[in-house]
Amino acid sequence: MKLGHPDIHWHKLRRDQIAALAAAGAVPLLPFGAIEQHGPHLPLDTDTDAATAVCERAAALLTASAEEGELAAVVLPPIWWGLSPYWMGFPGTLTLRPETILALISDIGASVARHGFRRLVIVNGHGGNEGIIGVAATQLADHGLRAHALSYWSLIPDELRANARHDGGGIGHAGEVETSIALHRQPDRVAPLPAATACTDLAALAAAPFAAVGYAPPDPATDAPTGVYGRADAGRADLGQLVLDRAADQLAAFVRHLARPAR
Ligand SMILES: [Zn+2]
Repeated sequence: MKLGHPDIHWHKLRRDQIAALAAAGAVPLLPFGAIEQHGPHLPLDTDTDAATAVCERAAALLTASAEEGELAAVVLPPIWWGLSPYWMGFPGTLTLRPETILALISDIGASVARHGFRRLVIVNGHGGNEGIIGVAATQLADHGLRAHALSYWSLIPDELRANARHDGGGIGHAGEVETSIALHRQPDRVAPLPAATACTDLAALAAAPFAAVGYAPPDPATDAPTGVYGRADAGRADLGQLVLDRAADQLAAFVRHLARPAR
C-alpha cells in the first residue's frame, strides 16, 4: 500500500494525505511531555523531546514497512506541557492543571476521530503524567476512539534494568537515563553533569518502607533538593540512543500488534 505521505508529522501533511492515512487505518501517535526543570544540567524540554523522538522513530519504522502492506503511523504535534506542580519552585517549569490536560487531549482526540481515525496512542515522556494518561485514554472512548496510553520507558523494562544500572532500571528525573537521552539528542544544551553527591539516590528511596506502595508525587523539599532523582553523573550518549531506539522498536511492534484482526 503506497500511502504517498512523505512526512511522518501530521502537521506537515496535506489534507488529502491525512484522508489517505485515515482510510488505510493508520495510527496517530500523540507525544506528551513536560516543560519543567531538569536539574542544573538539562534543558526544560527533555521529556517532550524524548517522547517525540520515540514517536518519530517508531513512525519512520512503520512507514517504511507500510508500503509492504502494514499499518502506518503518523505523529501528532506534541503536547509540550504536563503536570509538574512540584517543580514550580525551580525557574522555567510550566505546568497545566489536570482539567486543562484532559480537555486538551479530549479535543485533540475528537478532532482526530472526526477525520476518520479509530485509534490513538498517547506516548508519555514525563513521570508526573502517568496518573492522568489512563483517564485521558478512557475519556477518548466518548469520541469513538480506541486509545492506548503508555510511557516510553514501560516498553523496555528489561533493557533499562540491564543498561541503566546506576538507577536500578528506573527512569528517575534528570538522572542516568534522561541525562543520557539529552546527551544523545541535544548535547550542546547540556551543562556539566552534577556530581553523584548532588543527585538523589533512587536505590535508597526505593528501599524506604512502603516505597513501592501507591503513589506520592516527588517532593523536592524532602527528597531532591537539587531537583535530580537518579545518577546524572552516569549519563552517556550511547545509553540515550539505545533507550530511544529500543523504545521505538517496541512502539512500532505495538502498533503492528494493534493492526491484527480482533479475535
Ligand atoms: Zn524528565
